[in-house]
This record gives sequence, C-alpha cells and structure tokens, in this order.
Amino acid sequence: MMGYDTVLFDHGDDGRMIRIALDEGRVIVTRDTQMMKRRVITSGHLRAVLVSGDKPEQQIKQVMNEMGLDSNFRPFSLCMECNHPLEERSKAEVAGLVPPYVFKTQEHYVQCPNCFRVYWKGTHWQAMVRKLEGLGGDSSS
Ligand SMILES: [Zn+2]
Repeated sequence: MMGYDTVLFDHGDDGRMIRIALDEGRVIVTRDTQMMKRRVITSGHLRAVLVSGDKPEQQIKQVMNEMGLDSNFRPFSLCMECNHPLEERSKAEVAGLVPPYVFKTQEHYVQCPNCFRVYWKGTHWQAMVRKLEGLGGDSSS
C-alpha cells in the first residue's frame, strides 16, 4: 500500500522465506520471536524486524522507524495483490472494468499490468494516504 516491494508469507515455511529473503535482499518483518533467534539473523547475515504491539498503526510506525522509512513512501505505486508496479490509465481505458458509480465519479486510475486489477483514488485512497502521512516517521534517527 505504501509502495514498498513486499512479499507476504501466510504460512510457515520459514526455510523458504529465509532463502527468498537472502536471494532477493529482503528484510524479514515478523512477530515470531523464534525467528529472531535463528543464526542467520543473530549473525547479522539477514536483517529482521520483530514487530511488537497489536494495533496496525503502532506496527507500521515501528517498522517505519526501525527501517528509516520516514516520508519517502509512494502510496499505491505497487499492486497490493501481486507487487507489480502500477501504471496510469485514462478513464476511457478502464471503461467497463470498474463499477458504474466509480466510473461516474472518479477521474484518476491506475492498473496493474500483471493481474489487471484497477485502482482509483477515491475516498478510501484519500483516507489511507492521510492516515499514512499522519503516522509520520522518526526522522531524527
Ligand atoms: Zn497485480
């Protein structure tokens, strides 16, 4: 959502997750305290952030602070389904791809060239951006 290249691992093949993180230069973001005890992480070979707190806002803020992601994020530049960069689309190009009410009221669209999902900058988008901006980051570090 914030425009950071992210892969979600729903269920537990930790070995596979670690291999992919190492191969692709990713940082593991987890709530799994056991994960943090792995040698590949304690040795500093692979970077990991242990997320604490239960509220999503707290969690985002923590990850932003620990990874130094203050205010440079680009909201909705990547597909939330498949992580692919989104492309601008004209209104004519999305005709028939979005609900009639949306088509009538929205002017700005982006589409994923990989899964063809269409996003628009409606009230939900604006509320999300406001929320993300409100979270800020710790720019003092
Ligand atoms: Zn996609």
